[in-house]
Amino acid sequence: MLEADVAIVGAGAAGLSLAHRLAGSGSGRRAPSVTLLEAPPGPLRPPRRTWCFWEAGPGRFDAAVTASWRCLRVRDRAGRPIHGDIAPLRYKMIRSDDFEHLVARDLAGHDRVRRVEGTVDTVEDVPGGALVRLRDREGNPRVVGARWVFDSRPPGSLPAARTTLLQHFHGWFVRTARPAFAPGTAELMDFRTPQPADGLSFGYVLPLGRHDALVEYTEFSPRPLTPDAYEAAVRHYTDDVLRLGDLEVLSAETGVIPMTDAVMPRRTGQSVFRIGAAGGATRPSTGYTFAGLQRQTRAVAAALGEGRRPVPPPAHSARSRAMDAGPLYFHSGATLGQQGTRIAREMHDIIGHNLSV
Ligand SMILES: Cc1cc2nc3c(=O)[nH]c(=O)nc-3n(C[C@H](O)[C@H](O)[C@H](O)COP(=O)(O)OP(=O)(O)OC[C@H]3O[C@@H](n4cnc5c(N)ncnc54)[C@H](O)[C@@H]3O)c2cc1C
Repeated sequence: MLEADVAIVGAGAAGLSLAHRLAGSGSGRRAPSVTLLEAPPGPLRPPRRTWCFWEAGPGRFDAAVTASWRCLRVRDRAGRPIHGDIAPLRYKMIRSDDFEHLVARDLAGHDRVRRVEGTVDTVEDVPGGALVRLRDREGNPRVVGARWVFDSRPPGSLPAARTTLLQHFHGWFVRTARPAFAPGTAELMDFRTPQPADGLSFGYVLPLGRHDALVEYTEFSPRPLTPDAYEAAVRHYTDDVLRLGDLEVLSAETGVIPMTDAVMPRRTGQSVFRIGAAGGATRPSTGYTFAGLQRQTRAVAAALGEGRRPVPPPAHSARSRAMDAGPLYFHSGATLGQQGTRIAREMHDIIGHNLSV
């Protein structure tokens, strides 16, 4: 029995974005009925995070944007800056809490979107649709049937790839005693950090005011660090490289994003598709995912609105993926500690010319 036109598995960036778009797609046709299946509080829920992405002009989720920048900077190992003015684009920051509140507020008035809490175990094709099997908080089994299912659960393992690296990072939202930041410019890559033997590292500074910023230490390398090593790396960057002086750490975030040239399947059945990071929305050479999953979910909502089969398109063009395979291979194999300037220039090219990050 089909309970909904669409079931969305997972209420992360991709699941919430798709639900938001489908709720708002009622013009002309009737909006599809949607069941959004979200994991109960616990280990399956991703920790709070910050999403940054490029966008031209006003955007769908601007009410949740914490800050945005028109000027970007990268620095080579000697600290020499390269600036980019990315107008008409802006680099925007959204915190996941604010995004969730915005989506919850907008969905509250839509009776065609139903939110159900449960741990999804399986999704299977059946004639005319698909069945999602889940367990509620008490462990009771439940089945949801839908014409189409969009699954954003992280895949258990990655498909085979020529190159797989990890982008892993740890950052602090800091408040400094002295005015230490220039709010108009985001520092995307600062290669003055000590370079690991096997990979590359850089600092990242997103100023929110003269005294406030998100400051992160990032590595592209085969393995994450220990919690102590991350803390030491961020401390070294704030104290010895940026020389911020006295500061208070308001909160912290840690992340690991696989960077791979593997092809992620976007269709796993006649009626079952993958979206978001699980559906290949992560850009291999940078780890950026948020803009890619917006392109995917926008296309899915448009296809459903027009009565077409809603296969999520690739989040990145074939040309972008081909261009990425080179830098990714290069990041994984070369003596990166000596290559800061070259990578900074590549990044500058990305900032200046490639809008589909
Ligand atoms: C700390 C961090 C910072 C990042 N910053 C950026 C950034 O600045 N810019 C950018 O573009 N990208 C960024 N990324 C990468 C990417 O945007 C995020 O990983 C993004 O959250 C991916 O969204 P998603 O919906 O595809 O996956 P997720 O957010 O992982 O969502 C998956 C959902 O599935 C649910 N789920 C899992 N298992 C089950 C189950 N069995 N049953 C029911 N539900 C389940 C989870 O609870 C979750 O809600 C960052 C990643 C991290 C980790």
